[in-house]
Amino acid sequence: MPQKNHQTINWNRQVSVRYRADVAVIGGGIAGVCAACAAAAEGAAVILVERFGVTGGNATIGGVANWSGETAGQGAVFDEIIEMQQQWNSIAPYPGPYTSKNGNRVFDHEILAVILQELLIKYGVRLLLHTRFVDVQRQADILGPALVAGATGIEALDAKVFIDTSGGGDLARAAGCPLLEPGKLGPLPPSLMYFVRELQEAVGPQLPADWFEPVTRDADVPMTSTWPAGPGAKALKLKITGYDSADTEDMARLEIRARRRMWEVLDYYQRDFRGEQTGRRNHPRNANVKNWHFDHCSPMIGLRETCRIAGDYVLAVDDLRAGRAFDDAVARGVFYLDGMRPDDEKRTYLLSKEDQIVPPYHIPFRSLIAKDAGNLLMAGRCFSADQLALSSARVMPTCAMMGQAVGIAAAWCANRNCTPRNLDGATLRRYLEKRNANLDIG
Ligand SMILES: Cc1cc2nc3c(=O)[nH]c(=O)nc-3n(C[C@H](O)[C@H](O)[C@H](O)COP(=O)(O)OP(=O)(O)OC[C@H]3O[C@@H](n4cnc5c(N)ncnc54)[C@H](O)[C@@H]3O)c2cc1C
Repeated sequence: MPQKNHQTINWNRQVSVRYRADVAVIGGGIAGVCAACAAAAEGAAVILVERFGVTGGNATIGGVANWSGETAGQGAVFDEIIEMQQQWNSIAPYPGPYTSKNGNRVFDHEILAVILQELLIKYGVRLLLHTRFVDVQRQADILGPALVAGATGIEALDAKVFIDTSGGGDLARAAGCPLLEPGKLGPLPPSLMYFVRELQEAVGPQLPADWFEPVTRDADVPMTSTWPAGPGAKALKLKITGYDSADTEDMARLEIRARRRMWEVLDYYQRDFRGEQTGRRNHPRNANVKNWHFDHCSPMIGLRETCRIAGDYVLAVDDLRAGRAFDDAVARGVFYLDGMRPDDEKRTYLLSKEDQIVPPYHIPFRSLIAKDAGNLLMAGRCFSADQLALSSARVMPTCAMMGQAVGIAAAWCANRNCTPRNLDGATLRRYLEKRNANLDIG
């Protein structure tokens, strides 16, 4: 969209429509991968466009190596992913049906990257990696062709149905589809995932003196969570606030800030281990404290929320609290309302602990159909929900469920030459239940 006070130009050139498909999926995160595989399983010709060299989005590139919520009954495609992770011995065991106390299953994110690419190939999805969706044309409410930029340069891609699983709603934004209002305090905050090995000795890289602004007091340490990440290793999650991930320059500032902050915080813990600031290492209670030796950092900061696309229905937090049932339910959420405060880098939340719990709830098909467009579906963290509803539904198994649903719906539309609004949501629901989607909310 042209911005006020900027000079504008018109850009005209001929571009080959090199790619044609029944279904084009923009963004290969967990929602996009499940959408693409599910559409292909229905016999559709599918193209998946992903700007990085691997698929998985937050789950791989973002280093978020942990399925939260329920991992059984999240649809046949997700079942297959779990099955392959088990074959690779790269996932924690199933902890039993979801409760707020056992809602996590860590996995190896590099192995997931391999699993997802092999799965996509097995289903016959045409993969455009290192290819960025740039823009889309529209005739009335029908979108297409789209412009994509990969190694060859700018080319066009046309499809009968488009699925926006870009996380940030890139396709919907480019098409001029309406977005939902951001939360009052801004989008849910991002976090950088980085990885350390736990050693008994203080060896390895450390922050040189005079670099950045080292953290010197416990009170200044931002929200940092730790996860197991294989033998002798930990994943660290660092909250960063105050940037707009839908703005090009702010996104650059965000990444720069996150890398600096990572070293400032890691330095704090490393000095702590060496007993340089608190003497913690020598404290008898902390005899087991180990040095956090820097291993690697995710190539991209993890984004929880960028833009939510307005759909035919906006799933509201009150629907979740009421455990509201929908005839056109295509996914089920169970996770708590994990709304971190967007304006505070400490461990603070939008809701009190008691207010975070919700019963199992439905996600209706209508919240995955983009308003003002005839052939655009969306799934994952850019679907049509208010901010608090998203704070629960954004967990990856739920994104996978939404992905499978829109993939099947898109294939049906391409096959029947109709648009998503012509489909019967209740029929889709019954079909999804046969494809291992547990939509039971009691
Ligand atoms: C730090 C952090 C911790 C989290 N912790 C957990 C957790 O413990 N458990 C859990 O289940 N969930 C967790 N979540 C939530 C979860 O990771 C995300 O909500 C989920 O991965 C979103 O999946 P998605 O497919 O919708 O989007 P994304 O993972 O964001 O994928 C979008 C994909 O689209 C691609 N893309 C974007 N724009 C374009 C474009 N223009 N052209 C081409 N490709 C494009 C991206 O590269 C990416 O691959 C966490 C999230 C974050 C950020």
